[in-house]
Amino acid sequence: MRLLWRLIKTSVDKNKAAQIEKKLRQGNVNASYTAESPLRVLIGGILSQRTRDVNSEKALSQLFSQAHTIYGILALDQKELENLIKCSGFYRQKAAFIRGTCKAIVELHKGKVPSTRSELMSLPGVGPKTADLVLSYGFMKPAIAVDVHIYRVARRIGYTPIVASHEQVKSAIEACHPQKSLQFMDAALLSLGKNICKNSKPKCEECPIKDECDYVEISED
Ligand code: SF4
Repeated sequence: MRLLWRLIKTSVDKNKAAQIEKKLRQGNVNASYTAESPLRVLIGGILSQRTRDVNSEKALSQLFSQAHTIYGILALDQKELENLIKCSGFYRQKAAFIRGTCKAIVELHKGKVPSTRSELMSLPGVGPKTADLVLSYGFMKPAIAVDVHIYRVARRIGYTPIVASHEQVKSAIEACHPQKSLQFMDAALLSLGKNICKNSKPKCEECPIKDECDYVEISED
């Protein structure tokens, strides 16, 4: 017998979203939220591309142990920078993005990490997810940063059809919840995806929002 996961409907409206949020707040979901420096979040976002969290976190802490300001990073020579972030993979390209981003911040933003999505996304190597992470964790602005976990969980719950872009998932979640809830929802959906709603084996019996979720387990002989 083979188990399949199937979406049976798509129906998260504001009422259902409120129920989901309530159950996530009551449930056993770790949605802790720690503010960090915008620069650290920004560089961490670049390093996190195409690698596992453990690798990007190690690279980030190695880099910031040697240089934790824009000018400090720019003062590193190319080889030094590449060696510090090597464990995150694609390190030559990431080093170029990091250097390019730091230069652009100095030249265009007076040395301060910009705080709008469009300005952030104009920096080298910065896409929507990194921009939203900086807004959310660096500047504490309400934003859903759609990573691989939130993308999977949100479509399973039914915020969007299963075929949807990252931007559609972000817009759907942001439209259903009040602004003041978005930081919590970002952290809660991320935690749900990492710990319960896993890619291959979601633990639905433990899930605090199982009654609200559009995915059902069906069997196929
Ligand atoms: S019930 Fe929970 S764990 Fe199961 S698919 Fe839905 S969100 Fe994921």
